[in-house]
Amino acid sequence: MDAGLFGGTFNPLHNGHLGIISHVKTAFDLDRVILIPSAVPPHKHNTDLISAALRLRMVEETVEQLDGFQVSDMEMRRSGPSFTIDTIREFKATQAPGDRCYFMLGSDAFFDIPTWKETKEIFAAVSVIVMHRGAPEPPRTYGTFIDEHIATGYTWNQDNTSFIHPRLHPIHICAVPRIDISSTLIRSRIQQGQSISDLVPEPVEALIIEKELYT
Ligand code: ATP
Repeated sequence: MDAGLFGGTFNPLHNGHLGIISHVKTAFDLDRVILIPSAVPPHKHNTDLISAALRLRMVEETVEQLDGFQVSDMEMRRSGPSFTIDTIREFKATQAPGDRCYFMLGSDAFFDIPTWKETKEIFAAVSVIVMHRGAPEPPRTYGTFIDEHIATGYTWNQDNTSFIHPRLHPIHICAVPRIDISSTLIRSRIQQGQSISDLVPEPVEALIIEKELYT
């Protein structure tokens, strides 16, 4: 069972999230993608943040209608800030030997990774898939960043668009379709009284209406 882990604030979950993770699931032939809502995002100081329980419920109600997608509340069960390395370790402890685990993230989050807890340990633990929006970036941009902020010794492999290291796990650069949706856009559309029907899955819209969220 090859799994992709996709963490996010999901405030709220939207069609941009689902579009890119569906693309990666197919491209990497993953058996499942597990969405992991963050309880206390260490990097976001957002006054619009709704409760962890509601964000979890939005994801639960959406993925139960989708094959090969799951949700995990593991970050919500831990106390304190949600650190990716802890999530990866906890998930890997549940996997059978031989199962592969990929950690998926957007390129904006990837370039922020040096500020995360135990950065290098993440790459020692799992393969990373960087979801790059739009046309593929020249590998030089990523290569210089990886050398300076993650580890030296990664080399670019054009055939599978990955950076390979003799001891650490690969970093895959996956071009994903550009979908111009963000949670920020959705919250602002709600505040302006505009429709969000085309931007979020149906269960998310229903819950936002029912609970009058982000108004
Ligand atoms: P906000 O607008 O509140 O900052 P967001 O829409 O970026 O939120 P998050 O839950 O913070 O949503 O995103 C989780 C991950 O999904 C991040 O790595 C982010 O880069 C990525 N992501 C979000 N929206 C898109 C999108 N439309 N295309 C590609 N990646 C996305």
